[in-house]
Amino acid sequence: MYKTNSRPSGSNSRFSSNKKGGFRKSSSTRTGQFNRKPKSGGSSRFSGGYKGGNQGRNRSRFSKTSKLDISTFINKAQAIKPDEKVFEPKNSFASLPIENILKENILRKNYQKPTPIQDESILHILEGKDIVGLANTGTGKTAAFLIPLINKVILNSKEQIIILTPTRELAIQIEDELKSFIDNIRIYSTVCVGGAPIYKQIQKLKKPNQFVIGTPGRVMDLMKRKVLNVKGFKTIVLDEADRMLDMGFVNDMRFIMAQMPKERHTLFFSATMSSTIEELIKDFLNNPVNISVKTRDVSKNIDQDVIRMNGQNKLDVLANLLSDPKLSKVLVFGRTKHGVEKLNKQLLQLGVRTESIHGNKTHGQRQRSLQRFKTDSVQTLIATDVVARGLDINNVSHVINYDLPETYDDYVHRIGRTGRANKTGKALTFID
Ligand code: AMP
Repeated sequence: MYKTNSRPSGSNSRFSSNKKGGFRKSSSTRTGQFNRKPKSGGSSRFSGGYKGGNQGRNRSRFSKTSKLDISTFINKAQAIKPDEKVFEPKNSFASLPIENILKENILRKNYQKPTPIQDESILHILEGKDIVGLANTGTGKTAAFLIPLINKVILNSKEQIIILTPTRELAIQIEDELKSFIDNIRIYSTVCVGGAPIYKQIQKLKKPNQFVIGTPGRVMDLMKRKVLNVKGFKTIVLDEADRMLDMGFVNDMRFIMAQMPKERHTLFFSATMSSTIEELIKDFLNNPVNISVKTRDVSKNIDQDVIRMNGQNKLDVLANLLSDPKLSKVLVFGRTKHGVEKLNKQLLQLGVRTESIHGNKTHGQRQRSLQRFKTDSVQTLIATDVVARGLDINNVSHVINYDLPETYDDYVHRIGRTGRANKTGKALTFID
């Protein structure tokens, strides 16, 4: 029970928890051609993906510009039913045609079986096929492309692979995941992201690297400085391509790919489809295998509720909530960089162990804040939308929307930081 006067409204004042782990098959996965809407712009839906539930309904009800409907922030998490079909992959990690050392490393990470996206894509990638993967974060898509690409590098240490991501945090996260798979293998990588000292990246690029992971702007910058030559890179991964487009990276992406060899292995991942994305795919991919894997509707396994301020001070309400030990690892979203920093200072003064992450911080500061939150050195991380997208942080107990998100898409992304890997999460939205 919260120690605030304003209890969450709706049916959701008590949170249920679901301890069951594992990835579930709640929507179909398939390979083959997607049924697309006519090329009229906007997002088209893939026929193989998720079709029903809140998210689908809400997405169509809310365009980027439409107003938010508060009722969509209230939803009781649906417990995963015991009879709900647990996803059974066609492949096991042991049966994959990959090197033993890599299999051992996968086992050491305690991955029991492939997730749907891994099950559907690893074999195709091992065969050298281009892939279009419609999947969001939390589906295990990073390992879906890393496992076969690491295998490629083990077989030929001269292979060079470039991975483009929308944000520096995601680039670092991918490198962390890469490192966790190659502990005992001689494979080298460099992260090339803006906001970090370019000199260090230049020094690292002078040595051989099999993996270059970066944001399009910085990668292009390094190419123009002639420090990075992608002519020898025969493989490219475009991760969260839709997000890269949203962030205005389309020309940079095109520039980078145009410099790469024509005979190339291209892996393309995106959470949504649009006509611009389809054009990119048409221009740069060669007869790709299409894989659509939507997770269990994100909003289904997250308890969502609103807290009405009714004239109360938002900061007091938040501080009260945070004094409840159940709110052990809380991601708080504010709308502006300035607002996030201010809230962080106010909470610190109230004795809350907190960190903030936003675009006014240097790369190093952002990493430190994130690390302190990940390792439970602080209870809360206050964040703006942009930097928090795609972050993979384990066991976030609650997401609190201190300020309303701008769009329903942003809302879904925010709350998707909790309730990951089929755990039940909790999201609270403050309403003035
Ligand atoms: P991603 O969608 O790549 O951000 O991955 C989400 C989380 O799932 C990460 O913490 C991964 O380490 C984890 N993960 C990926 N594949 C598996 C697997 N086969 N079994 C268990 N956990 C996994």
